[in-house]
Amino acid sequence: MPILKKQDPKIYKAIQGELKRQREGMELIASENYVSEAVLEALGTVFTNKYSEGYPGRRYYGGQEFTDVVENLAIERAKKLFGAEHVNVQPLSGAPANMIAYSAVLKPGDKVLGMDLSHGGHLTHGHPVTLSAQVYDFVRYKTGADGKIDYKELEAMAIKEKPQMILAGFSAYTRQLDYKKFAAIAKKVGAITMFDIAHIAGLIAGKALPNPVPYFDIVTTTTHKTLRGPRGGMILCKEKFAKAIDKAAFPGFQGGPHMNNIAAKAVAFGEALKPSFARYAAQILKNAKVLEIELKKYGFKIMFGGTDNHMVLVDVFGSKGVTGKEAEKALDKVGITLNKNMIPDDPRSPMDPSGVRIGVPAVTTRGMKEREIVKIARWINDVVENHADEKKLKVIHKEVIALCKKFPVYGNLK
Ligand SMILES: *Cc1c(COP(=O)(O)O)cnc(C)c1O
Repeated sequence: MPILKKQDPKIYKAIQGELKRQREGMELIASENYVSEAVLEALGTVFTNKYSEGYPGRRYYGGQEFTDVVENLAIERAKKLFGAEHVNVQPLSGAPANMIAYSAVLKPGDKVLGMDLSHGGHLTHGHPVTLSAQVYDFVRYKTGADGKIDYKELEAMAIKEKPQMILAGFSAYTRQLDYKKFAAIAKKVGAITMFDIAHIAGLIAGKALPNPVPYFDIVTTTTHKTLRGPRGGMILCKEKFAKAIDKAAFPGFQGGPHMNNIAAKAVAFGEALKPSFARYAAQILKNAKVLEIELKKYGFKIMFGGTDNHMVLVDVFGSKGVTGKEAEKALDKVGITLNKNMIPDDPRSPMDPSGVRIGVPAVTTRGMKEREIVKIARWINDVVENHADEKKLKVIHKEVIALCKKFPVYGNLK
């Protein structure tokens, strides 16, 4: 970046700092990943200059011969990846994608069943601090004593509440959803089904998890988590909701789409269609399982009874008497990044909860496999148990950097 370096050294320096951090750090935040250099190239292009309100073939501005190419390719590839009838690639991120989907099919005041945040749901699924909760009437369902969604209770709740929509989708829930059962409950009460697959989209695209798209009316997602694309959102739906979804995205909620981002989405979807992406998704599941098994050996309590996807939720306070915030901070010191997280019905506060969430998509992108995960689990235990021992943390930090250097990322970036 020779031009930026000269023109704005402060920003250049921060970018270089972040690049070094990402190269040398052990990234275990479950929602993060490393996009390819091809995706980065597409993001930093002249498409950022272009206004293209509307959709391919029907725009409100001229000069659309190339924007139409990239948006059509993004749509085509996403349809192929997920077997979707209709795709909208314009949502700017996951949260707007959800608001767009709600507004497409619900009226203000309509009732929605959504998963409780502390049980693994997402803020945009009706948490009281969000706009979604002000506009719609959210009722929250939870997981049962065995850590899984209690479908009997969900059904009873659906019959009692008569919601217009039943919403699935999670940021910290680690078990596989029973799509058929879920959809059958919604059908029984005449509710629209929506699934927010923000976290697991890449696992579905890579065929490591079953595809929910045939079972749900609307599926929303981010494109930057396991799907390993640029930051962004996307909505997949049945043909009968296509018009409503497109209208709700533009002009309903957003203005001009970010075309450089849509070009990068198309590149990422192209990557996800390759056989190597299926191998990537399969390795994520293997790595997460090893992480679960190893952490259990060290005496950590794994929430929901284990994992079927790319992450584990760990009750560090209940297992080791160290809070989620303390664990996050100590792990940060050794270059291991993850996030503190509530556990179901957490008695502690959201700012200092009982748990941490640990995900393997980013380290799996680097090429780390079972052997490395065993080491990572050992470091996590050592750091949590010795979180006040600065000397010990320094030693571990060196080991972490050494392992990261063996699995380089962004070798061509300067
Ligand atoms: C991450 C996430 C979102 C929000 O995505 P943003 O791109 O951060 O707006 C929405 N839903 C779920 C389930 C998520 O995990």
